[in-house]
Amino acid sequence: MLDRDHFERLDLDDPLAAVTARFHLPDGVVYLDGNSLGPLPAHVSRALARVVDEEWGEGLIRSWNRGWWELAGEVGDVIGGMIGAPAGTVIAGDTTTAALFKTTMAALRLRPSRPVILTDSGNFPTDLYVLEAAAGLSGASLEVVGPHEVEGRIGDDVAVVALTHVDYRTGRRHDLAAISEAAHRAGSLVVWDLSHSAGAMEIDIACADMAVGCGYKYLNGGPGAPAFTYVSRDLLPEFTNPISGWWGHREPFAMRTDFEPAPGIERTQVGTPPVISLAALRSALEVFEGVPTRLLREKSERLVGDFVRLVDERLDGFQLVTPRRPEERGSHVALSHPRAREIMAALISEGVIGDVRPPHLLRFGLAPAFQRHVDVWDAVEAIRRVMDNDLWRSAVAPSGPVT
Ligand SMILES: *Cc1c(COP(=O)(O)O)cnc(C)c1O
Repeated sequence: MLDRDHFERLDLDDPLAAVTARFHLPDGVVYLDGNSLGPLPAHVSRALARVVDEEWGEGLIRSWNRGWWELAGEVGDVIGGMIGAPAGTVIAGDTTTAALFKTTMAALRLRPSRPVILTDSGNFPTDLYVLEAAAGLSGASLEVVGPHEVEGRIGDDVAVVALTHVDYRTGRRHDLAAISEAAHRAGSLVVWDLSHSAGAMEIDIACADMAVGCGYKYLNGGPGAPAFTYVSRDLLPEFTNPISGWWGHREPFAMRTDFEPAPGIERTQVGTPPVISLAALRSALEVFEGVPTRLLREKSERLVGDFVRLVDERLDGFQLVTPRRPEERGSHVALSHPRAREIMAALISEGVIGDVRPPHLLRFGLAPAFQRHVDVWDAVEAIRRVMDNDLWRSAVAPSGPVT
């Protein structure tokens, strides 16, 4: 039998304890939504104040030549180091949605005679919308199959396989290496969305052609943080940005009237990067300095495994939607319950913050960088309290567009 002491001991032995201690979390809150909006590393407030007061306030436009110019690439390289990408192949900026549009369009252009974009039905809605739009613009068609049918469907009519590594709802994880290899065997290109995996596990993206991902989830860059884009070294010279803007130009400030793309990953840029948001992301990423992603994954597996075990042992009436095999899942757990919305509202009143996804999934993110092992115990005990005392019956679901 597990008890709270067991989890307290795990926290004392946690090799990532020093990383965890760097985060600010409000008192009395068990935060299980780092997969949706990562919390604030405490030092970021001061770092941002310095960027605003000194770099913007005092440096003014001179600051472009004192670090702003290189910022997007520097942040990209830090993220690249976390996803197995060589230096100079990742850049930060834009949103995940925009990044996916640019990479998919560029990939389609490299396989013009193939009619199919392949994705799976569990993909994030914005990804599906963008892929549909890319299909419409290019004359290809989007084919959506079940997550387990993707590998078998890859064939020589497929131009691009575009998938999200870890499913935002269920937590199911694709085998990134196997699918990338299958795509390459068929001559297809593969674009991965790493939004729900970068910052929580080891990733070897060098086996893929392109990738995008989110800066505000496990990377903790703050609300609306810049996304990132990876393009393999081999494809970079052939990458055509569908939005040719001045920041993708070889010499943005030469103000030439003809477009010539930058030789490197800068060619994926469009317009002026969001410097203050990039500065927040860069500062937030410092918590990962010197931390092998293997340690993140090991801790994540333990958190997720223990959460599942406690759900099995201590709760009734919830159905586990997340796969049971560790190699098939990411870093959050999804439970299905017909009263998901009311239960989550009651949990939030109890100080346990997760979220719900339609129709009735409760999601609990277990982010290895800041999570404490006792969070797992405390969250499951809070669910027990809510159920045993029928607290969900009187709970009021939060109003507003975000749940
Ligand atoms: C969070 C997330 C996004 C978010 O896209 P934005 O354009 O940054 O709002 C996109 N795709 C996936 C798979 C996500 O998990």
